[in-house]
Amino acid sequence: MKPPPFDYVVATSLDQAIDLVSSDEDAKFIAGGQSLIPLLSLRFARPTLLVDISRLSVLRGVRSVADALNIGASTRHADIERLPVVRECAPLLSAAAGWVAHAQIRNRGTFGGAVAHSDSAAEFPAALLAMGATIVTRSSSGERRIPSTQFFGAHFQTALQHGELVVAVEVPTADRFSRWGFSEFARRKGDYAIGGAAVSARLNEDGECTSVRAGLIAAGPGPTSAEGLEETLVGHLVDESAVDAAVAQCERSLSPESNVHGSKEYRRAVVAESLRRALHQAFDLGGTQDERRSA
Ligand SMILES: Cc1cc2nc3c(=O)[nH]c(=O)nc-3n(C[C@H](O)[C@H](O)[C@H](O)COP(=O)(O)OP(=O)(O)OC[C@H]3O[C@@H](n4cnc5c(N)ncnc54)[C@H](O)[C@@H]3O)c2cc1C
Repeated sequence: MKPPPFDYVVATSLDQAIDLVSSDEDAKFIAGGQSLIPLLSLRFARPTLLVDISRLSVLRGVRSVADALNIGASTRHADIERLPVVRECAPLLSAAAGWVAHAQIRNRGTFGGAVAHSDSAAEFPAALLAMGATIVTRSSSGERRIPSTQFFGAHFQTALQHGELVVAVEVPTADRFSRWGFSEFARRKGDYAIGGAAVSARLNEDGECTSVRAGLIAAGPGPTSAEGLEETLVGHLVDESAVDAAVAQCERSLSPESNVHGSKEYRRAVVAESLRRALHQAFDLGGTQDERRSA
Protein backbone atom coordinates (compact mmCIF):
# COMPACT_ATOMS: atom_id res chain seq x y z
CA MET A 1 0.00 0.00 0.00
CA LYS A 2 0.97 3.64 -0.38
CA PRO A 3 1.25 6.02 2.59
CA PRO A 4 -1.50 8.60 3.06
CA PRO A 5 -0.55 12.17 2.03
CA PHE A 6 1.52 14.21 4.51
CA ASP A 7 3.65 17.34 4.62
CA TYR A 8 7.39 16.93 5.12
CA VAL A 9 9.92 19.31 6.63
CA VAL A 10 13.65 18.73 7.07
CA ALA A 11 14.43 20.31 10.46
CA THR A 12 17.42 22.66 10.59
CA SER A 13 17.51 23.02 14.39
CA LEU A 14 16.36 21.12 17.45
CA ASP A 15 14.09 23.99 18.55
CA GLN A 16 12.46 24.19 15.12
CA ALA A 17 11.81 20.42 15.11
CA ILE A 18 10.27 20.57 18.59
CA ASP A 19 8.16 23.65 17.75
CA LEU A 20 6.80 22.11 14.54
CA VAL A 21 5.73 18.84 16.17
CA SER A 22 4.45 20.50 19.37
CA SER A 23 2.16 22.82 17.42
CA ASP A 24 0.42 20.05 15.43
CA GLU A 25 -1.03 17.13 17.37
CA ASP A 26 -0.91 14.92 14.25
CA ALA A 27 2.75 15.68 13.46
CA LYS A 28 5.55 13.16 14.06
CA PHE A 29 9.33 13.12 14.06
CA ILE A 30 10.97 10.84 11.52
CA ALA A 31 14.57 9.62 11.92
CA GLY A 32 15.66 6.48 10.02
CA GLY A 33 12.09 5.71 8.90
CA GLN A 34 12.61 1.96 9.41
CA SER A 35 9.60 1.60 11.71
CA LEU A 36 7.52 4.64 10.75
CA ILE A 37 7.52 4.18 6.96
CA PRO A 38 6.14 0.60 7.18
CA LEU A 39 3.46 1.90 9.60
CA LEU A 40 2.53 4.66 7.12
CA SER A 41 2.46 2.24 4.21
CA LEU A 42 0.11 -0.04 6.16
CA ARG A 43 -1.88 3.08 7.17
CA PHE A 44 -1.53 2.22 10.86
CA ALA A 45 -0.22 5.81 11.28
CA ARG A 46 -1.66 8.88 9.51
CA PRO A 47 0.46 11.89 10.48
CA THR A 48 -0.30 15.21 8.75
CA LEU A 49 3.33 16.33 9.01
CA LEU A 50 6.65 14.50 9.23
CA VAL A 51 9.56 16.46 10.70
CA ASP A 52 12.84 14.89 9.60
CA ILE A 53 15.45 15.08 12.39
CA SER A 54 18.07 12.94 10.66
CA ARG A 55 20.26 15.91 9.60
CA LEU A 56 20.55 17.53 13.03
CA SER A 57 24.24 17.26 13.91
CA VAL A 58 23.43 17.91 17.60
CA LEU A 59 21.82 14.43 17.77
CA ARG A 60 24.94 12.69 16.42
CA GLY A 61 27.99 11.33 18.15
CA VAL A 62 29.12 9.16 21.02
CA ARG A 63 31.09 10.70 23.88
CA SER A 64 32.29 9.75 27.35
CA VAL A 65 30.75 11.73 30.23
CA ALA A 66 31.98 10.95 33.79
CA ASP A 67 31.32 7.20 34.20
CA ALA A 68 28.85 6.91 31.31
CA LEU A 69 28.71 6.84 27.54
CA ASN A 70 26.40 9.45 25.96
CA ILE A 71 25.05 8.08 22.68
CA GLY A 72 23.30 10.59 20.40
CA ALA A 73 19.80 9.71 19.20
CA SER A 74 20.82 9.73 15.51
CA THR A 75 23.54 7.11 16.01
CA ARG A 76 22.80 4.28 13.58
CA HIS A 77 22.36 0.71 14.79
CA ALA A 78 25.40 -0.26 12.65
CA ASP A 79 27.57 2.28 14.49
CA ILE A 80 26.49 0.92 17.87
CA GLU A 81 27.49 -2.51 16.63
CA ARG A 82 30.88 -1.48 15.25
CA LEU A 83 32.26 1.66 16.93
CA PRO A 84 35.26 0.65 19.10
CA VAL A 85 34.22 3.03 21.93
CA VAL A 86 30.79 1.37 22.19
CA ARG A 87 32.24 -2.14 21.91
CA GLU A 88 34.67 -1.39 24.71
CA CYS A 89 32.54 0.75 27.07
CA ALA A 90 29.09 -0.78 26.42
CA PRO A 91 29.75 -4.31 25.10
CA LEU A 92 26.20 -5.51 25.88
CA LEU A 93 24.74 -2.77 23.70
CA SER A 94 26.99 -3.47 20.73
CA ALA A 95 26.29 -7.21 21.05
CA ALA A 96 22.53 -6.49 21.08
CA ALA A 97 22.86 -4.25 17.98
CA GLY A 98 24.16 -7.18 15.96
CA TRP A 99 20.80 -8.92 16.49
CA VAL A 100 18.67 -6.01 15.22
CA ALA A 101 17.11 -6.79 11.85
CA HIS A 102 19.31 -6.96 8.72
CA ALA A 103 22.38 -4.94 7.69
CA GLN A 104 20.36 -2.58 5.45
CA ILE A 105 18.05 -1.70 8.35
CA ARG A 106 20.94 -1.36 10.80
CA ASN A 107 22.56 1.12 8.36
CA ARG A 108 19.51 3.43 8.40
CA GLY A 109 17.69 2.82 11.70
CA THR A 110 18.65 5.12 14.57
CA PHE A 111 19.18 4.36 18.24
CA GLY A 112 16.80 7.15 19.31
CA GLY A 113 14.14 5.91 16.89
CA ALA A 114 14.31 2.38 18.29
CA VAL A 115 14.12 3.72 21.86
CA ALA A 116 11.14 5.99 21.05
CA HIS A 117 9.40 3.19 19.13
CA SER A 118 9.61 0.97 22.25
CA ASP A 119 8.80 -2.35 20.64
CA SER A 120 8.48 -5.19 23.17
CA ALA A 121 10.37 -7.46 20.74
CA ALA A 122 13.24 -5.00 20.13
CA GLU A 123 16.77 -5.57 21.40
CA PHE A 124 17.80 -2.06 22.52
CA PRO A 125 15.06 -1.43 25.12
CA ALA A 126 15.91 -4.76 26.82
CA ALA A 127 19.63 -3.93 26.82
CA LEU A 128 18.94 -0.46 28.26
CA LEU A 129 16.80 -1.91 31.06
CA ALA A 130 19.60 -4.35 31.90
CA MET A 131 22.23 -1.59 31.89
CA GLY A 132 20.23 0.88 33.95
CA ALA A 133 20.40 3.49 31.18
CA THR A 134 19.04 7.05 31.31
CA ILE A 135 17.06 8.53 28.41
CA VAL A 136 17.81 12.23 27.83
CA THR A 137 14.95 14.15 26.21
CA ARG A 138 14.20 17.73 25.06
CA SER A 139 10.89 19.49 24.66
CA SER A 140 9.61 23.06 24.75
CA SER A 141 9.62 22.69 28.58
CA GLY A 142 13.35 21.85 28.68
CA GLU A 143 15.46 18.73 29.27
CA ARG A 144 14.44 15.59 31.17
CA ARG A 145 16.56 12.65 32.27
CA ILE A 146 14.34 9.58 32.52
CA PRO A 147 15.53 6.24 33.97
CA SER A 148 14.88 3.45 31.46
CA THR A 149 12.72 1.65 34.05
CA GLN A 150 10.33 4.64 33.96
CA PHE A 151 10.60 5.27 30.23
CA PHE A 152 9.20 2.14 28.55
CA GLY A 153 5.50 1.33 28.82
CA ALA A 154 3.13 -1.24 27.33
CA HIS A 155 2.05 -1.42 23.69
CA PHE A 156 4.60 1.00 22.16
CA GLN A 157 3.96 3.62 24.87
CA THR A 158 6.78 5.59 26.50
CA ALA A 159 7.15 8.46 28.96
CA LEU A 160 7.60 10.85 25.99
CA GLN A 161 5.07 13.68 25.70
CA HIS A 162 3.92 14.86 22.28
CA GLY A 163 6.68 17.05 20.82
CA GLU A 164 9.35 15.64 23.18
CA LEU A 165 12.44 14.35 21.47
CA VAL A 166 14.95 11.66 22.55
CA VAL A 167 18.24 13.54 22.33
CA ALA A 168 20.61 10.90 23.68
CA VAL A 169 20.87 7.86 25.91
CA GLU A 170 23.45 7.53 28.69
CA VAL A 171 24.68 4.06 29.59
CA PRO A 172 27.05 3.27 32.48
CA THR A 173 30.58 2.53 31.29
CA ALA A 174 31.66 -1.09 31.78
CA ASP A 175 34.76 -1.78 33.89
CA ARG A 176 36.65 -4.91 34.96
CA PHE A 177 33.91 -5.87 37.43
CA SER A 178 31.16 -5.67 34.80
CA ARG A 179 29.67 -8.78 33.20
CA TRP A 180 27.08 -9.12 30.46
CA GLY A 181 25.14 -11.72 28.52
CA PHE A 182 22.74 -11.64 25.59
CA SER A 183 20.63 -14.37 24.04
CA GLU A 184 17.62 -14.39 21.75
CA PHE A 185 15.72 -16.80 19.54
CA ALA A 186 14.19 -15.87 16.19
CA ARG A 187 13.04 -18.15 13.39
CA ARG A 188 15.54 -16.60 10.97
CA LYS A 189 18.57 -14.36 11.67
CA GLY A 190 17.33 -10.77 11.42
CA ASP A 191 13.69 -11.50 12.27
CA TYR A 192 12.16 -9.95 15.34
CA ALA A 193 12.84 -12.19 18.35
CA ILE A 194 10.28 -14.68 19.63
CA GLY A 195 11.98 -14.21 22.99
CA GLY A 196 15.27 -13.02 24.39
CA ALA A 197 17.16 -11.57 27.33
CA ALA A 198 19.94 -9.06 28.02
CA VAL A 199 21.83 -9.33 31.33
CA SER A 200 24.14 -6.91 33.07
CA ALA A 201 25.89 -7.82 36.33
CA ARG A 202 28.75 -6.74 38.59
CA LEU A 203 31.11 -8.87 40.66
CA ASN A 204 33.38 -7.93 43.56
CA GLU A 205 37.09 -8.85 43.94
CA ASP A 206 36.06 -12.27 45.31
CA GLY A 207 33.84 -13.01 42.31
CA GLU A 208 30.59 -12.58 44.25
CA CYS A 209 27.68 -10.97 42.46
CA THR A 210 27.03 -7.43 43.75
CA SER A 211 24.28 -6.49 41.28
CA VAL A 212 22.37 -8.08 38.43
CA ARG A 213 19.63 -6.83 36.12
CA ALA A 214 18.00 -8.26 33.02
CA GLY A 215 15.81 -6.81 30.30
CA LEU A 216 13.55 -9.28 28.56
CA ILE A 217 12.56 -9.32 24.88
CA ALA A 218 8.99 -10.15 23.83
CA ALA A 219 8.14 -11.12 27.40
CA GLY A 220 5.06 -8.92 27.79
CA PRO A 221 3.15 -6.03 26.25
CA GLY A 222 6.23 -3.78 26.46
CA PRO A 223 9.98 -3.95 27.19
CA THR A 224 10.16 -5.84 30.50
CA SER A 225 12.60 -6.02 33.41
CA ALA A 226 13.20 -9.48 34.89
CA GLU A 227 11.86 -9.82 38.43
CA GLY A 228 13.54 -11.46 41.39
CA LEU A 229 17.10 -11.95 40.10
CA GLU A 230 18.76 -9.82 42.77
CA GLU A 231 17.24 -11.74 45.70
CA THR A 232 18.55 -15.05 44.36
CA LEU A 233 21.95 -14.05 42.97
CA VAL A 234 23.36 -11.00 44.79
CA GLY A 235 25.90 -11.83 47.52
CA HIS A 236 26.74 -15.23 46.04
CA LEU A 237 29.31 -16.89 43.83
CA VAL A 238 26.80 -17.63 41.10
CA ASP A 239 26.63 -21.22 39.86
CA GLU A 240 24.30 -23.14 37.56
CA SER A 241 21.85 -24.13 40.32
CA ALA A 242 21.55 -20.48 41.44
CA VAL A 243 20.83 -19.48 37.84
CA ASP A 244 18.19 -22.22 37.52
CA ALA A 245 16.50 -20.99 40.71
CA ALA A 246 16.58 -17.34 39.57
CA VAL A 247 15.14 -18.21 36.16
CA ALA A 248 12.38 -20.38 37.68
CA GLN A 249 11.37 -17.51 39.96
CA CYS A 250 11.38 -14.97 37.12
CA GLU A 251 9.50 -17.29 34.73
CA ARG A 252 6.44 -17.30 37.00
CA SER A 253 6.03 -13.53 36.54
CA LEU A 254 6.21 -13.57 32.73
CA SER A 255 3.10 -12.98 30.64
CA PRO A 256 4.05 -12.85 26.96
CA GLU A 257 1.19 -12.52 24.49
CA SER A 258 0.23 -15.35 22.12
CA ASN A 259 0.69 -14.44 18.46
CA VAL A 260 1.33 -16.08 15.08
CA HIS A 261 4.87 -16.99 16.18
CA GLY A 262 3.80 -19.02 19.18
CA SER A 263 1.51 -19.56 22.12
CA LYS A 264 1.91 -17.71 25.40
CA GLU A 265 3.36 -20.86 27.01
CA TYR A 266 5.90 -21.39 24.19
CA ARG A 267 7.03 -17.78 24.27
CA ARG A 268 7.36 -17.85 28.06
CA ALA A 269 9.62 -20.92 27.75
CA VAL A 270 11.73 -19.21 25.04
CA VAL A 271 12.20 -16.06 27.17
CA ALA A 272 13.12 -18.16 30.23
CA GLU A 273 15.66 -20.22 28.29
CA SER A 274 17.12 -17.02 26.79
CA LEU A 275 17.47 -15.59 30.30
CA ARG A 276 19.18 -18.78 31.49
CA ARG A 277 21.66 -18.61 28.58
CA ALA A 278 22.33 -14.88 29.05
CA LEU A 279 22.98 -15.44 32.78
CA HIS A 280 25.35 -18.31 31.94
CA GLN A 281 27.26 -15.96 29.64
CA ALA A 282 27.35 -13.18 32.21
CA PHE A 283 28.66 -15.42 35.00
CA ASP A 284 31.08 -17.34 32.77
CA LEU A 285 29.31 -20.65 33.27
CA GLY A 286 30.72 -21.96 29.99
CA GLY A 287 33.02 -19.81 27.81
CA THR A 288 34.61 -16.52 28.82
CA GLN A 289 33.55 -13.00 27.92
CA ASP A 290 36.62 -12.66 25.67
CA GLU A 291 35.84 -15.91 23.84
CA ARG A 292 32.30 -14.70 23.23
CA ARG A 293 33.49 -11.28 22.03
CA SER A 294 35.72 -12.90 19.40
CA ALA A 295 33.10 -15.52 18.41
C1 LIG B 1 12.04 -5.61 8.15
C2 LIG B 1 12.35 -4.96 9.46
C3 LIG B 1 12.86 -5.74 10.48
C4 LIG B 1 13.14 -5.14 11.72
N1 LIG B 1 13.65 -5.94 12.69
C5 LIG B 1 13.96 -5.40 13.89
C6 LIG B 1 14.50 -6.18 14.94
O1 LIG B 1 14.73 -7.38 14.79
N2 LIG B 1 14.76 -5.56 16.12
C7 LIG B 1 14.52 -4.21 16.32
O2 LIG B 1 14.77 -3.71 17.40
N3 LIG B 1 14.04 -3.45 15.33
C8 LIG B 1 13.75 -3.99 14.13
N4 LIG B 1 13.25 -3.19 13.14
C9 LIG B 1 13.01 -1.74 13.45
C10 LIG B 1 14.28 -0.91 13.25
O3 LIG B 1 15.22 -1.22 14.26
C11 LIG B 1 14.00 0.61 13.34
O4 LIG B 1 15.09 1.25 12.77
C12 LIG B 1 13.83 1.25 14.68
O5 LIG B 1 12.86 0.58 15.43
C13 LIG B 1 13.35 2.70 14.57
O6 LIG B 1 14.40 3.56 14.24
P1 LIG B 1 14.22 4.64 13.10
O7 LIG B 1 15.34 5.60 13.20
O8 LIG B 1 14.08 3.95 11.78
O9 LIG B 1 12.86 5.38 13.55
P2 LIG B 1 11.64 5.92 12.69
O10 LIG B 1 11.03 4.81 11.92
O11 LIG B 1 12.05 7.13 11.93
O12 LIG B 1 10.67 6.36 13.88
C14 LIG B 1 10.08 5.41 14.72
C15 LIG B 1 9.22 6.13 15.76
O13 LIG B 1 10.06 6.84 16.67
C16 LIG B 1 9.80 8.26 16.62
N5 LIG B 1 11.12 8.88 16.71
C17 LIG B 1 12.20 8.65 15.92
N6 LIG B 1 13.28 9.28 16.41
C18 LIG B 1 12.87 9.92 17.54
C19 LIG B 1 13.54 10.72 18.51
N7 LIG B 1 14.86 10.99 18.45
N8 LIG B 1 12.81 11.20 19.54
C20 LIG B 1 11.48 10.94 19.66
N9 LIG B 1 10.80 10.18 18.77
C21 LIG B 1 11.50 9.67 17.73
C22 LIG B 1 9.06 8.49 15.31
O14 LIG B 1 8.17 9.61 15.42
C23 LIG B 1 8.29 7.19 15.18
O15 LIG B 1 7.13 7.23 15.97
C24 LIG B 1 12.95 -3.74 11.91
C25 LIG B 1 12.47 -2.95 10.86
C26 LIG B 1 12.17 -3.56 9.64
C27 LIG B 1 11.65 -2.67 8.52
